[in-house]
Amino acid sequence: MDSYILALDQGTTSSRAIVFDRGGQVVASAQREFRQLYPQPGWVEHDPLEIWESQLAVARQAIAAAGIGAARIAAVGITNQRETTIVWDRATGQPVHNAIVWQCRRSAGLCDALKAGGWEPRVRERTGLVVDAYFSGTKIQWLLENVPGLRARAERGEVCFGTVDSWLTFKLSGGRAWVTDYSNASRTMLFNIHRLAWDPDLCAALGVPARMLPEVRPSSHPFGRTAGDLLGAEIPITGIAGDQQASLFGQACFQPGTAKNTYGTGCFLLVHTGDRPVASQTGLLTTVAASPTEGRAEYALEGSIFITGAAIQWLRDGLQIIADSAESEPVAASVPDTGGVYFVPAFVGLGAPHWDMYARGAILGLTRGTTRAHLVRAALEAIAYQTREVLEAATFDARLALAELRVDGGATANNLLMQFQADILGAPVVRPVVKETTALGAAYLAGLAVGYWASRDEIAANWAADRRFLPEMNEAERGHRYAGWRRAVARASGWATP
Ligand code: ADP
Repeated sequence: MDSYILALDQGTTSSRAIVFDRGGQVVASAQREFRQLYPQPGWVEHDPLEIWESQLAVARQAIAAAGIGAARIAAVGITNQRETTIVWDRATGQPVHNAIVWQCRRSAGLCDALKAGGWEPRVRERTGLVVDAYFSGTKIQWLLENVPGLRARAERGEVCFGTVDSWLTFKLSGGRAWVTDYSNASRTMLFNIHRLAWDPDLCAALGVPARMLPEVRPSSHPFGRTAGDLLGAEIPITGIAGDQQASLFGQACFQPGTAKNTYGTGCFLLVHTGDRPVASQTGLLTTVAASPTEGRAEYALEGSIFITGAAIQWLRDGLQIIADSAESEPVAASVPDTGGVYFVPAFVGLGAPHWDMYARGAILGLTRGTTRAHLVRAALEAIAYQTREVLEAATFDARLALAELRVDGGATANNLLMQFQADILGAPVVRPVVKETTALGAAYLAGLAVGYWASRDEIAANWAADRRFLPEMNEAERGHRYAGWRRAVARASGWATP
């Protein structure tokens, strides 16, 4: 009887579990949403116990739905929303506070203080990140400064910090494992991505006691075993990676210059740079890719775009000119082009490579002939233009040429968008058969550690294209359209006054 791999995909709004077979195909899955807590404007929290309980419930459901029994699960892999910060009591396993979610801005003031103290260049050099409330470091600092008695407990070694992967592993192992992997550690702003160790100077600067930090291991590693009473068997937990790194792995992007883009609310683009951590000159982050081998990190350049699919949601909910996201495709296809209209969806400013927090959304080039179809088409095209900007920044930084872009996420269902993406990049855009690349990446990492898959070659052979979109637009047209986009961005820049 064949065995399977269970992937736990702990996301920002839901916990999911998927059972995969040897071919990397989905056998069964389950999903459960949990509460988003907004205690103040700009603050976002989750209840760590709700994360844990929802994750455990879907794991059990997926195993039951697969009809296989826990004994036939060869290993568990975990992938997770990154940066989200949890601190819990080591002895009781009780959280000391709600999880501070990656989106939460409460530690922005702590970041300003770090910058004023001249820490920005050291943070950049050692962690590959910029000083920002997005990362875990200042979230831990905030907890130490605001939860009564926490600092003393942390110094006595009584509490554990962890990102969501650590928290789940701790809970799954019945409190026996307190670990994380290189890719998750690289998002804390406390981890030296060159030496693959917690950085004592950065920990000191943020006042984080080393005793509260987990052990850091490669992404494919015997992290622990699930407690026998939880899933019905003691299953080895052998894969951990942050969600974007897991998706890069699930897309079989292992070689320098291979890249993936995930199209959701926003976009996350990662370009693998091999064993070379590339320092960005264009505002991208240097991050540790899922790295299966002890002591040997692989790296990626990462660019995030804030608003992509969210602009389609805005057409639906704000303007109410489409009934659902999928309708954007036939509506856009009803016109041959946007009639010269550009839509810059800088609703919350612009991220990489512009980093303009004062940019605001703009629609340019309107005429009497403009219709909703032009507007919808312009919103889709904006996703592709923004992706080109980030991809160009990454290939410039890394001095690598791109052979093709592998894609995943909800909006990749839109064929018109995918074709326009290929056209505007002048490179093939490839959509895989298995859309669950994030969970699949975690499964692959777990399976490699137990010999379920022999090598990455076997994984790469599993990867299959559903559809390749080849560029059809001529060079002159591509240049002309992209130049228009750049002019539109310039008009949207710096609009809101501080
Ligand atoms: P997330 O994980 O960020 O919630 P998903 O991967 O589920 O995102 O993708 C959902 C996003 O993709 C939404 O913003 C939605 O508007 C957009 N989207 C979904 N289907 C389509 C489509 N056919 N065309 C364009 N956008 C779409």
